Amino acid sequence: MVRSMKGCGMTRKKSIAMACPVLDGNEKKYVLECLDSGWISSIGRFVELFEREFARYCGSNHAVSCSNGTSALHLALAALDVGPEDEVIVPALTYVATANAVRYCGAKPVFVDSEPRTMTLDPQLLEGCITRRTRGIIPVHLFGHPADMDSINSVARRHGLFVVEDAAEAHGALYRGRKAGSLADAATFSFYGNKIITTGEGGMITTSSAELSERMTILRGQGVDPQRRYWFPVIGYNYRMTNIAAAIGVAQLERIDRFLELRLRLAAAYHARLSPLGEFLQLPSEQPWARHAYWSYTVILRDAACFDRDELMDRLGRDGIETRPVFYPMHTLPPYFDNHARFPVAENLGSRGISLPMHALLAEEDVTYVADRLGYWCGQLTALSGGTFVALTGR
Ligand SMILES: *Cc1c(COP(=O)(O)O)cnc(C)c1O
Repeated sequence: MVRSMKGCGMTRKKSIAMACPVLDGNEKKYVLECLDSGWISSIGRFVELFEREFARYCGSNHAVSCSNGTSALHLALAALDVGPEDEVIVPALTYVATANAVRYCGAKPVFVDSEPRTMTLDPQLLEGCITRRTRGIIPVHLFGHPADMDSINSVARRHGLFVVEDAAEAHGALYRGRKAGSLADAATFSFYGNKIITTGEGGMITTSSAELSERMTILRGQGVDPQRRYWFPVIGYNYRMTNIAAAIGVAQLERIDRFLELRLRLAAAYHARLSPLGEFLQLPSEQPWARHAYWSYTVILRDAACFDRDELMDRLGRDGIETRPVFYPMHTLPPYFDNHARFPVAENLGSRGISLPMHALLAEEDVTYVADRLGYWCGQLTALSGGTFVALTGR
């Protein structure tokens, strides 16, 4: 327990973090190599190595590294020529970067509701969102569960739209046996500190298209002509990844399968211990065609839980358990506010969902503690709210 919390700023009191990077493989060795060699900017062997290995891991032909997951989304859309007249379909329930990247191109994000079990974009609703301005769709593999890509791709094909996976939370997730990152025209990843693998800050785009890969590489490096130094035929960006970040990424990628295995095991432990609370909680599940990457283990309060979600999170916080609310749906945020829009599934998940601690340093006894306290507080808060008192699973 004490050992498992090392590096997460935890000492005396029981304190369980949401996320925690694991950096005790070759990370230090590779970073020192950067420092010793002087290759600390965006030129160096680790950048190319990370791109090559990441493309191979995803089963994709090309990978273009960049500064973060948001710039990855922006690069993909810019390379696909998304512009001010365009609309791009984005789930209402996602991290804000997905919608912002569309705005960076001057285009309009058009929101669509989610499917309640996977919490990902509902393909049934896509046709209703398509206009003559629609250029593409960005399904998000939310919390690590892949979106229903075959259905999404077939709608896209019918209407001549591009599809970009936002796989920021889904490194290593499988859709019908194929990896996230190989399921559409392009896919974007984030390596922020709380993601499945991290480079501190960092991002990647995978694609099977050589042309798209080249365009993204040019845009990432200020738009410079690959054949002519200091000649800039287009306006690009400085979205490059540093060799130091890539060095960490290479070391992380060496152990990704182990990280995913641990996450699956912890998810199974949560599942076993929380199943008795099925009356209160909808637990995450895997579709038969999916392997979840469990970036987060997110439970949804059912109607029977007649208490406030934030109050439950507050009580867990006092027990030293860090939790996170599910994202606010995009149409409720000031930049995208729309008082008339209704996305009932996204709204329900956004107001009733709680992500529990999930990272590769979590011990099974931590999962037991979280489940016990969750059970305890569900019982207490139900009693306080005048509901039926239930048998407590905790103390
Ligand atoms: C983390 C995340 C991003 C953005 O990644 P950054 O590296 O933080 O820019 C984009 N989309 C989703 C779904 C994410 O979870």
